Amino acid sequence: MRIGAHVSSAGGHHLVFERARAIGAEAVQLFISAPQQWKLPDPGDEQVGLFCRQRDAAGIPAFFHGVYLINFGSQDEALLGRSIASLKAYRHFAGQMGVVGTIFHVGSHLGAGFDEAMVERIARMLGDVLDDEPDNPSLLILENNAGQGNCIGGKFEELGTLIGGLGGDPRVGVCIDTCHAYAMGYDLATDEGCATAMEEFDREVGFGRLVAVHANDTKQPLGTFRDRHENIGEGHIGIDGFRTLMAHPAFREVPFLLEVPGFDGKGPDAKNIRRLKKIRSELGIEAPKLPPISRLAQAR
Ligand SMILES: [Zn+2]
Ligand SMILES: [Zn+2]
Repeated sequence: MRIGAHVSSAGGHHLVFERARAIGAEAVQLFISAPQQWKLPDPGDEQVGLFCRQRDAAGIPAFFHGVYLINFGSQDEALLGRSIASLKAYRHFAGQMGVVGTIFHVGSHLGAGFDEAMVERIARMLGDVLDDEPDNPSLLILENNAGQGNCIGGKFEELGTLIGGLGGDPRVGVCIDTCHAYAMGYDLATDEGCATAMEEFDREVGFGRLVAVHANDTKQPLGTFRDRHENIGEGHIGIDGFRTLMAHPAFREVPFLLEVPGFDGKGPDAKNIRRLKKIRSELGIEAPKLPPISRLAQAR
């Protein structure tokens, strides 16, 4: 189990590896374009090469997070077109940059309902993204949400239905956000709740699809459909809750990526990482061996 974090890519995508290693992260997530804008990423060959060298030197896997504007549940053709173009571009660079995959939110059906026609539409669009570069090994990774505002994919069942619509395409993975799952009513913080939730996940999606966890505590109580991330141990899941869920065998080989506010409000930090690593070591779960940090300077 790797303990990683979302890290700022300001000033150059390759900088995420030094920033990640500096706070003790063993996996990293980044944006490669402004997440509130449609402007497509365009890192250029030099940046791509530098990113790859730094990735190898850091010895940690990288994930992209797609832009927040993506909505495959909309009926607006222009918005759908932009969503497809954005995800194609992210997937293209994920392939070039040796990135595991792009984690994204499917979007909201805006009241239209998550019916068979909707599943077919979304599956067709995601299939189009995948078929754009059939040999690209990077994954499309569906993230569960907090179930707010007609969002698709709060329930594991909905994620499973979408994957079924894609014929179980092996290039599709799933990321469980612990804060979102808790908001949706999946009580990952207790032994029984966690066992029940993960049984449902295995039945509807399958453990083999789980490729990342967004490890976030939450400011909101169970089942409130509200997406408010909190630092590890400071929210309703708590240290004991994280110990419970990290002990579940489904998470044993899955990288945890923090998306927490941070203890000084600057995002995922060393303190949050230390808290998860402490639990990992108490549980006797193996930590990955990383190359020396000095290798990063040599690979610039
Ligand atoms: Zn998340
Ligand atoms: Zn969230």
